[in-house]
Amino acid sequence: MVYFAKGMVFSVPKYNDVLTKKVLAKAKALGASEAGIASAEVLNEGLEEDFRPEDVLPGCRSVVVVSLHIPDGALEIMRRGVSNYSYNLFGYAYLNRELDFLAYRLSNFIEDFGYATLPIPGRNCSIGARKPGYGMISFRHAAVAAGLASFGLSGLALSPRYGSRQRFLGLPTTAPLRPAEKILTPAEVCDGCLECVAHCPAKALEIKPPHVLKMGGQTFRFARAIPSKCRIMASGLSTKVWPGAKFNPKVDVPIIKEPTPAEVYRQLWEERDARLRVLEHSEATFGATNCGRCMAFCSAGHAAMKRRLLASEKTGGYADDNVLARDGTLKPLIPTPKTYGRELLGLA
Ligand code: SF4
Ligand code: SF4
Repeated sequence: MVYFAKGMVFSVPKYNDVLTKKVLAKAKALGASEAGIASAEVLNEGLEEDFRPEDVLPGCRSVVVVSLHIPDGALEIMRRGVSNYSYNLFGYAYLNRELDFLAYRLSNFIEDFGYATLPIPGRNCSIGARKPGYGMISFRHAAVAAGLASFGLSGLALSPRYGSRQRFLGLPTTAPLRPAEKILTPAEVCDGCLECVAHCPAKALEIKPPHVLKMGGQTFRFARAIPSKCRIMASGLSTKVWPGAKFNPKVDVPIIKEPTPAEVYRQLWEERDARLRVLEHSEATFGATNCGRCMAFCSAGHAAMKRRLLASEKTGGYADDNVLARDGTLKPLIPTPKTYGRELLGLA
């Protein structure tokens, strides 16, 4: 940007690098597992009208993205079919509170520098919006635009460090922060194994044909998640999620293809097991038999855990990104990829 005043020319840099560093350092100091900056321009291109950064915050220039790692144990116990209770809280309901903490403190921090910022709750659910169940902006898209992750075939944002095992939050702001230079390709994080599709109990992930998204100069292809099918499982409305699991109350509700709001209300408040309505966290009432199998069974998440454990063993300490990147002997432990998934990623 260039300004003229009394015959003098002033040039204002497009990005504020000092503030960018301060914001990212603050996010890490507050406990974010990872932090990055997405360009609002890139997200405006990738997201639908009404759900773009500029729709929720006029003048938005950047989206600060933070992530919190889901403890591997909370997902490994799900893979063994023992219980999904730890995931419900430490992978979802409580993690949302931690994301709220980050959103609140980072918003105040950035506003103190004179920029408008919109804290969005970690749960990011705008019930009653044009697309019920959709958040104000997609945190997954924001994570990809911030260079922290890329879309796996499940549609989840997978990161090189944690695979599927994190929750993201995006914070739109008018601050001119420098965005990520590189957007990761899906092939950098997803191996096309389609374990996510195979383990979805509702068959909610439809891959043929895939959803196609163009954003940041890239074309992404991933599963179309059918909300009405996923909601039944993700809201704890069926014991099909974890049949036989020890801590899984019986909550069978018939799957209605496209439920009306009245049917949703009836399912949630009249047909569910009463035990699910009285838990401590309101979100955990939904989460009492929460699903998350596409996340738990994602090979990228499991492989990321193995890599970190191996790196930690080799170095005798905490496995940081540099060790993982430099040490070619740390091979990901992932199953043989299925051909169709690899075709979609251009790997076949
Ligand atoms: S949360 Fe469960 S039902 Fe929904 S897409 Fe993932 S595996 Fe399928
Ligand atoms: S389960 Fe496999 S195909 Fe699905 S997102 Fe994870 S790595 Fe990709």
